Amino acid sequence: MSPLRVAIVGFGKIARDQHVPAIAATDGVELVAIADPNASLPGVPHAAALDELLRDGPPIDAVALCTPPQVRQAQAAIALAAGKHVMLEKPPGATVAEITPLVTAARASQRTLFATWHSRLASAVEPARQLLAGRQVTSARITWKEDVRVWHPGQAWIFEPGGLGVFDPGINALSILTRILPQPLFVTSADLSFPANRDAPIAASLALSDAKGLKINAEFDFLQTGPQSWDIDIETDGGPVTLSHGGARLKAEDGQRVDAMHAEYPALYRRFCELVSGGASEVDLAPLQLVADAFLLGRRRTVEPFEDKT
Ligand code: NAP
Repeated sequence: MSPLRVAIVGFGKIARDQHVPAIAATDGVELVAIADPNASLPGVPHAAALDELLRDGPPIDAVALCTPPQVRQAQAAIALAAGKHVMLEKPPGATVAEITPLVTAARASQRTLFATWHSRLASAVEPARQLLAGRQVTSARITWKEDVRVWHPGQAWIFEPGGLGVFDPGINALSILTRILPQPLFVTSADLSFPANRDAPIAASLALSDAKGLKINAEFDFLQTGPQSWDIDIETDGGPVTLSHGGARLKAEDGQRVDAMHAEYPALYRRFCELVSGGASEVDLAPLQLVADAFLLGRRRTVEPFEDKT
């Protein structure tokens, strides 16, 4: 079968760091074009925008939308209308409801819509899901604290409406949690800290629960200097279970069970190829719904203005 010809739309940090090497490392998929207002890659055809790419660019089968979430719904709609398969970076959109028409459009055009959650494909997530399936979970704590100046330098969109602020990384934790616990979860309270000069939170504390009253706390912070934390600690009837390093490491009462970095993006592209060849879509909005509910329920605090440079 000929490889899936993919165009990356939005050639920023994640496209360069992960999508390009993952495509190069995956059989059955090839990078044939890039659409971005400014950025390009030598040797790869470039257009300034998606509509220009679809009109004047080389033939493509699919787009990987690596743009900020605020512009992605319109791009996905254009791509599906043009008969292309669509991979959405996380979060799938800037709102929950905007995804439903895309699901409908994908079905109508018999194209694949893949709303990715890269953290779910981290090495330790599936082993954690299987381990917890045989246990009673009694509480869970998310600690997701990173330095926005290190990981998102100059990304103004992240603090604009729809950019999600600290939930841009925090939603990765929620994507893991909603994968490893089988039951539906919901937000019971939220405390959101908005910098005085920004429209998205820089820190958040959430309480979540399930139908049986499970206690889950989540701490998200974008101003963490020193050691960075991307951890989920779970208490179970069989002892403590910890997923750390964003889902790459799994520790249980008998010690380290998994320790493997960098599996996520090649696995995403393998999954995209499977979905396309099977004529299927994959869209799970649970993590985005939790973030939306945190905004609905959240107590808002105004904190110090945030400037990119210290
Ligand atoms: P980024 O570095 O700001 O890259 C976004 C790129 O999209 C920029 O080159 C931007 O160009 C371009 N762009 C903006 N509007 C566009 C449009 N209408 N058409 C085409 N290109 C457009 O952001 P990022 O960190 O790569 O993040 C992008 C998405 O990936 C986010 O949803 C994020 O959550 C997700 N993600 C990021 C990471 C990470 O570590 N950074 C990890 C996983 C997932 P200009 O800069 O010229 O506006």
